[in-house]
Amino acid sequence: MKEGIVVKGIGGFYYVSTEDGVYTCKAKGSFKKDKNILFVGDHVKLRVVNESEKEGFVSEIKERKNVTIRPPMANIDRMIIISSVTDPAPDTVFIDKMITLCEHKKIEPVLCFNKIDLSSDLELISDYEKIGYKVIKTSALESIGTEEFKNLLIPGITAVAGFSGVGKSSLLSSVMDIKLKTGKISDKIQRGKHTTRHVELFETEEGKFFADTPGFSSLEIDEVRKEELPDLFIEFEKYSHLCRFSDCSHTKERDCGVITAVENGEILKSRHNNYVAFYDKLKLINEWEREK
Ligand code: GDP
Ligand code: ZN
Repeated sequence: MKEGIVVKGIGGFYYVSTEDGVYTCKAKGSFKKDKNILFVGDHVKLRVVNESEKEGFVSEIKERKNVTIRPPMANIDRMIIISSVTDPAPDTVFIDKMITLCEHKKIEPVLCFNKIDLSSDLELISDYEKIGYKVIKTSALESIGTEEFKNLLIPGITAVAGFSGVGKSSLLSSVMDIKLKTGKISDKIQRGKHTTRHVELFETEEGKFFADTPGFSSLEIDEVRKEELPDLFIEFEKYSHLCRFSDCSHTKERDCGVITAVENGEILKSRHNNYVAFYDKLKLINEWEREK
């Protein structure tokens, strides 16, 4: 019995990366009966049926740390949220939505601001650092910070999110001298915006997987319950015990510690605005689902 990670799934076949290379596998029948679909990123056990052809079947899925549905993936450890300082300007709704999702799914968010050759004074950078998030500044064009970007690929699964035009492909190409154990990432990256919807993991070094997923810019936070939202804005915790009401939603209540902190400039206004917008949206969704 071997263990490995599902790096790709196409047409009923799963490609599983193990210590001894990549095996082409089918899932055992019982998987389908249980509607137990495999995701890219799943840690699995497999039985080899043909060693020379590297064929086998998956017999067991290990417990997942997290799952995302669109795109379908399991066990993401770290998400690099890429924006550009200008052209296009950073979108805090997108950034905060991604951070919220990461906090919800126990994924470590890292912010990357690219194109710093065009403009270097962006207050948002220090704003997010103050909250406690790791932020790096890069210029793919002038090879600034690209070493730091490369170092973000740590053991586990790293994914990248960002709108088109912020420089994802350029950044990834700039670090593509890293030796790829499986597959050729440069081909994929050149395909750029025309990539198909399927997700694939690339092993850059032993145990370091990188997810090539164009779809993360369209993720939604619908799965979050509104009651969970305050904890996902990590800087609120310091102030929420000051709220008059113990079930304060921090959206419009009187004597709210969080709103006071926003007024005093201790919490970023855009973060709170986005929080309120997310809260109102989740409230509608949650109510609608309860009535169903
Ligand atoms: P993607 O859509 O996120 O993959 O972005 P691309 O890598 O295709 O880059 C979009 C545009 O921004 C291209 O014209 C790049 O040449 C340009 N670009 C990418 N990175 C930088 C950068 O660091 N500085 C500047 N000035 N332009 C960049
Ligand atoms: Zn409050």
